Amino acid sequence: MKRELGVARCGLACCLCSENEHCAGCNSGECPDKDWCGNRSCSSEKNIDGCYACNEDCQKGLLAKIKPYAFTKFIKMYGIEKLLDCLEQNEKNGVVYHREGINGDYDDFENADELIEFIKKGKR
Ligand code: SF4
Ligand code: SF4
Repeated sequence: MKRELGVARCGLACCLCSENEHCAGCNSGECPDKDWCGNRSCSSEKNIDGCYACNEDCQKGLLAKIKPYAFTKFIKMYGIEKLLDCLEQNEKNGVVYHREGINGDYDDFENADELIEFIKKGKR
């Protein structure tokens, strides 16, 4: 885990992303999706660090997906350092963020609250 890369503006975990060998994170300008990412442009226009710092409960763009939405909600509830602590601990325990392509052990949840519980406990 590259903890220093933190979390992207949409909530995805740059620190664990399989692309992070050649992308230095959301604000580096190296993300392949940067030109169409509405969460990146919207949060930049609002002059906030990311959707996790926004007071709107919105599901635009990547927030329509459970994983970035849940990570964003987790940060709003517990803070970004707590999320990174959990991700780090879970990785040590064998939880894989990108196992096949962009899917891994944080995918395949029914809703954001279930995923938030998994992030905290590291098991289903
Ligand atoms: S590809 Fe996107 S999620 Fe992955 S490290 Fe780059 S900005 Fe982060
Ligand atoms: S949560 Fe929605 S409104 Fe807020 S910065 Fe992100 S995309 Fe924009």
